[in-house]
Amino acid sequence: MTILRILEFPDPKLRIKAVPIETVDDSLRVIIDNMFETMYEALGIGLAATQVDFHKRLLVADVSSEKDDPYVLINPRIIEKDGSKVSEEGCLSVPGYFDSVKRAETVRVSFLDRGGNQQEEEMTGMLAVCVQHEIDHLDGKLFVDYLSETKRQKVRKKLHKQKRVQSDSSMVL
Ligand code: ZN
Repeated sequence: MTILRILEFPDPKLRIKAVPIETVDDSLRVIIDNMFETMYEALGIGLAATQVDFHKRLLVADVSSEKDDPYVLINPRIIEKDGSKVSEEGCLSVPGYFDSVKRAETVRVSFLDRGGNQQEEEMTGMLAVCVQHEIDHLDGKLFVDYLSETKRQKVRKKLHKQKRVQSDSSMVL
């Protein structure tokens, strides 16, 4: 397997809107495996294809503490949202920065799994936050887009100075 390079904000390639995947085959599964390897190595709980410069609608996630509950979502689509919840988010493409983002608490998602089978699942908690964050990536959107312009400029300037320290409850997605 290969560790892929993760694009970092403000790289304009992070703004590319990913296109749907037409065929789920072995060459796609190689990319999926490399994305898992890259995500686990970077200690993230989610990774969107956009972040590794592959502009197709694919994301991987694993929010379990044992790192034994991998999720592959191909062409994911949120078909229902419920509630709202603020949580502390970070992003492998915005290293060292964490902030509060409000998202739906529960989402119902339709997607294809790594075998190309149609699935539908209700997700809540960390997984729901993660999937919403990663689908944003596929649409060229970053969690810092939810912050004020002033804050975003600060992120741009201080990105590598690690101004905010990660708390126990923050997630890197
Ligand atoms: Zn991210």
